[in-house]
Amino acid sequence: MSLPKFEFVAPKTVAGAISLQKDNAKFIAGGTDLLVAMKRRISSPSVIIDLNKISNLKRIKWNKKDGLRIGPLITLTQLKENPLVGKHLPGLSQIVPLISAPQLQNMGTIGGNLCLDARCYYYNQPVFLKKKREPCLKAGGQVCHVVKSGNRCHAVYSGDMAAPLMALGTRVKITGYSKTKELALRKFFSGSGIKPNILKSDELLTDIIVPPQPESSGFSYRKLRLRDTLDFPLLGVAVFIDLDEKDGRCKDFCLILSAVGPSPVVVEAATKMMRGKRMTPKLMDRVAREAQKKAHPVDNAASSPGYRREMVRVLIKKAIREALIPFSKV
Ligand SMILES: Cc1cc2nc3c(=O)[nH]c(=O)nc-3n(C[C@H](O)[C@H](O)[C@H](O)COP(=O)(O)OP(=O)(O)OC[C@H]3O[C@@H](n4cnc5c(N)ncnc54)[C@H](O)[C@@H]3O)c2cc1C
Repeated sequence: MSLPKFEFVAPKTVAGAISLQKDNAKFIAGGTDLLVAMKRRISSPSVIIDLNKISNLKRIKWNKKDGLRIGPLITLTQLKENPLVGKHLPGLSQIVPLISAPQLQNMGTIGGNLCLDARCYYYNQPVFLKKKREPCLKAGGQVCHVVKSGNRCHAVYSGDMAAPLMALGTRVKITGYSKTKELALRKFFSGSGIKPNILKSDELLTDIIVPPQPESSGFSYRKLRLRDTLDFPLLGVAVFIDLDEKDGRCKDFCLILSAVGPSPVVVEAATKMMRGKRMTPKLMDRVAREAQKKAHPVDNAASSPGYRREMVRVLIKKAIREALIPFSKV
């Protein structure tokens, strides 16, 4: 598969990159998602704005107040190997090997991962396979091939980094032509399969800020996929727990589900159910069942919705147990 023709520019500053944005231009970081989409003619930008020459976007810094400030152009491999990440957020480094494969981790960036387009079995296909069907909503058509009577796009946000980063209370900085804003990562996602994040075409994700984690906290990310060597998640479950070490009660709890819809799902009910309680297998099971109600996988990925839904409960319990390992309470 060849790439369509495009103009290539490589500015050295964020302002330069933003000023080069025009209709149908696209930013590129590692290119592991965008170039595949271009080869499949899912995306055909006339201009590609390469971000790799912007050194400001390639830094990782730590300070006690804000925690880790990660530039979006940090590759997944750099994230895994960075000593500051290893010291302050080792859980984050451990997620990287779960994402795609080493070659893609070497090229793919954390920013590109968060800005990943939503995927669908019917949409992410070569042109010759898609020709047989009417264009779907994501391709600018009027139908959804997944939910036939549906009037919204069911493409799935399938990035692996968003759920764990959300569970850790991450914020992101967005820089646009005239203003800069900082918001919680959970507000970065739009809920739309057609365009899964809120970035405007002339806005760049410029910082990923992960706050310092309480010493009394534990964290886990579990992923369901067909082949452990390569595949996108069929389901992702991220859990954060902060425990009162004196009485073993839960001070804070966060549960995020990924790859079950167009945006990662924050299970607010789980936080309410856990706060102030001691972790027991019964409570974990209740929380897992409650969370299952929030997952509505549809038939647009490589395994059945029923199986993925069932696995929500299984992975949540595994993730909670893993997050509790530092406390060895359960
Ligand atoms: C075979 C295969 C398997 C994969 N498996 C997984 C997997 O298991 N889990 C997973 O999470 N991903 C997977 N991926 C997707 C991808 O490799 C990673 O998500 C990677 O981190 C994407 O980063 P990138 O820098 O290559 O993104 P790019 O392709 O460069 O960009 C992706 C999108 O983000 C936009 N973008 C990039 N950076 C910015 C920025 N700073 N500001 C604004 N917009 C920006 C681009 O314009 C583009 O729309 C897989 C890909 C392939 C080809």
